[in-house]
Amino acid sequence: MKEFLAEHKHSFQKITAISGAGISAESEIPTFRGADGLWNNFRAEDLATPQAFEKDPKLVWEWYLWRRNIIESKAPNPGHTALADLERSHPDFFLITQNVDGLHETAGSRKLVEIHWNIFLNRCVSCGQESKEKISESDSRPPRCHSCRGPLGTVMAWFGESYEE
Ligand SMILES: [Zn+2]
Repeated sequence: MKEFLAEHKHSFQKITAISGAGISAESEIPTFRGADGLWNNFRAEDLATPQAFEKDPKLVWEWYLWRRNIIESKAPNPGHTALADLERSHPDFFLITQNVDGLHETAGSRKLVEIHWNIFLNRCVSCGQESKEKISESDSRPPRCHSCRGPLGTVMAWFGESYEE
């Protein structure tokens, strides 16, 4: 990809890149259905829904924190870096990603939209306040909002939900 981009970047006025799970798989981010171990007994479809959160927010939070921990141990790969480099060297570049792991931003991308949002983003179910504050082992499940003490949820597209407009 790097050679292709280097060769062609001056041929285009506007460049829009779209990325999905494949680019993060190179960083060993497990895909939804590739998870093994602890969560084998659960289906993502049963956890990543508003109904699942309503029924058992503790379980859903444990699952998200497990995934956050995995992602935090991973780093961007040369694919992420190439897209961040392209943004810096091209005046009209935009990146659309389906990924929720934040690795594009870590690699330096700034002109991007995460259409499924970001797994590290918390949103208060009561007042709507968003933050990327780290949730610790000792926080309750669901964690509580600092402003209104309402339950925090995550900000990701769940199964059956629409994209970020
Ligand atoms: Zn709140």
